[in-house]
Amino acid sequence: MKHLFEKAFCCVICASFIAVLICLLGCNNEIGYITKSHYVDKEQETDDTPKKEQEHSKKKEKNLTKKCRKLYKSNQELLVLVNKDNPLQEDYDASLMYICNGRLQASSKLYNHLVEMLADASEDGFQYWIASAYRDRQKQQSLIDEDVRKLMNSGMPYESALAEVYKETMPAGCSEHETGLALDILCSGNTNMDSSQESEPGNKWLKENCYKYGFILRYPSDKSNITGVNYEPWHFRYVGKKAAAFIMKNNLTLEEFFF
Ligand SMILES: [Zn+2]
Repeated sequence: MKHLFEKAFCCVICASFIAVLICLLGCNNEIGYITKSHYVDKEQETDDTPKKEQEHSKKKEKNLTKKCRKLYKSNQELLVLVNKDNPLQEDYDASLMYICNGRLQASSKLYNHLVEMLADASEDGFQYWIASAYRDRQKQQSLIDEDVRKLMNSGMPYESALAEVYKETMPAGCSEHETGLALDILCSGNTNMDSSQESEPGNKWLKENCYKYGFILRYPSDKSNITGVNYEPWHFRYVGKKAAAFIMKNNLTLEEFFF
């Protein structure tokens, strides 16, 4: 009897030992699976990859900034940044000359390049109408006042009207047109200063070729959150050939160039 009892006791101990062993192996596998495979893989997917991307883009930005600095040093005169946060100095010398048979004024620094660009475009069959070039501070203010008045006449309150106008027209002292280096170039078959310019073949020609003559598309469609100005397919800014090629090739705005 005692012998039988000892046997049974031994069996219970053995069974418990095997059960514990199976349980431990099972848990161990589960832990191994979670830590070595599932968890680590997830960690790599969510943390390591963005880290690598961040480092890559930081390196890219660093190189970009170095190149921008180099370009700026050799070309400060033309790379003047003018926007809502960077008003133009009141004593800025725009070096003006008359263009378009005396109808407009622009900086003499861009004249030859503009003539060359329009001649080459003409050879490809495109003609243009330059709607605006240099504007002084008073003229800029009178344009703003006029646009605000129009919106107020249609029932908009003053504050909202002014905010709406500032989406497309810079405050006086903050417009690139005051440098004499900015031009509003419209296609001769369509002189509406609106988004319809974008689909004109002549406008496409300008966007593709302007950098060769030192001009950039100043307010691109996908950068209005950076420039603070709505897309203006007609507004081109002279910055010089090297800077223009760099800016257009890297899809930058002047704001990002000075980042
Ligand atoms: Zn303009």
